[in-house]
Amino acid sequence: MSKLKQIGKLVTQNSSKILMVVMDGLGGLSQNVNGKTELETAHTPNLDKLAAEGICGLHLPVGTGLTPGSGPAHLGLFGYDPLEFQIGRGALEAVGIGFDLKKEDVAARGNFCTVDDSGKISDRRAGRIDTPTCQKLSELLNEKVKIDGVEVFVKPVREHRFLLVLRSDGLSDAVADTDPQRTGKAPLAPEAFEPKADKTSSIIADFVEQAAVILKDQDPANMLLLRGFSQLPDWPLFHELFGLNACAIAAYPMYRGVAKLVGMEAYQVDDDLDKEFALLEQHWSDYDFFFLHMKQTDSAGEDGDFDKKVSLIEDMDRMIPRAMKLKPDVVIVTGDHSTPAIMKKHSWHPVPLLLWSKLCRPDNVKEFGERACMNGSLGASFPATDIMPLALANAGRLEKFGA
Ligand code: ZN
Repeated sequence: MSKLKQIGKLVTQNSSKILMVVMDGLGGLSQNVNGKTELETAHTPNLDKLAAEGICGLHLPVGTGLTPGSGPAHLGLFGYDPLEFQIGRGALEAVGIGFDLKKEDVAARGNFCTVDDSGKISDRRAGRIDTPTCQKLSELLNEKVKIDGVEVFVKPVREHRFLLVLRSDGLSDAVADTDPQRTGKAPLAPEAFEPKADKTSSIIADFVEQAAVILKDQDPANMLLLRGFSQLPDWPLFHELFGLNACAIAAYPMYRGVAKLVGMEAYQVDDDLDKEFALLEQHWSDYDFFFLHMKQTDSAGEDGDFDKKVSLIEDMDRMIPRAMKLKPDVVIVTGDHSTPAIMKKHSWHPVPLLLWSKLCRPDNVKEFGERACMNGSLGASFPATDIMPLALANAGRLEKFGA
């Protein structure tokens, strides 16, 4: 926090505009020894030009050897150290499905589970019921549970997972999980960790009791477990820290959610680059900072589809001239983490990044790729939290430190 606040004190205003383009899971690996990664394979003349004129490197989203989720990885890109700025599981679940969590709300991650005749858990995930069943059960609870003075929201997530949100005055998240994390035990009581959470704990107990009756005759999901009670974090906002009026353009709720957590305006858009860039053009005069997100590169990586990831990167490359026509002062192109197609999952590998501005001292990198970026002036593993200060400096938005 202290470094972030120090930087905040140096921030000054001008009319510059910063564009951050994030291809989710951009970093990759080659399919065979000494072969090319997805990004190196992709034909990217426009990104190569920016890399040649700008500065490059590989950033570490969270830390050496750590494989990040997309949420924390994006916080790092936005300048918030993911190890310091952590969000509770319930609140994260809310962010992930685009639920508009309010300051007073308490959220929890829920599992539908199976209990036997004696009330002991026989399956913590109720045989991983399908998502339509989860939707049906969530709607049932959402409709039928009534608690005086409390708004109760039950929203399906996926398979056996759902989100519970309680809305009322004076709630606290200092309540213990009801999930004992093992079978053969009965669900636990939602105990308050401190007296100020007594009211919340009895509301949760009431919810669980009513839910047990409503679910009693369902099969196999005849009970539920709750964990990760949490509230919206009280973080310094992006515009307070960096003086930037920021917006997010993203097709997936999770990314708009993280952007909203730090106070960005978030625009919903179809999963279509043409539409994303049209929104960018439309709002270009309204903001100073634009975060534009592409999800499909990560999905292709997770599917193990090397060629698809390559062609998606090429799709993004073709959009770059459209962005440059808007005359941004600083352009950053990167990923939030690596998702190598050969691993079919997120990985710990540092992520290629290019930063272009008129004030760059160009390095020797001539093309945008992992190995080229390794030799860039930003280094082969610099902290993602350095990206924002660098962007601000290149935008002429940071005063000198000290006299
Ligand atoms: Zn991601």
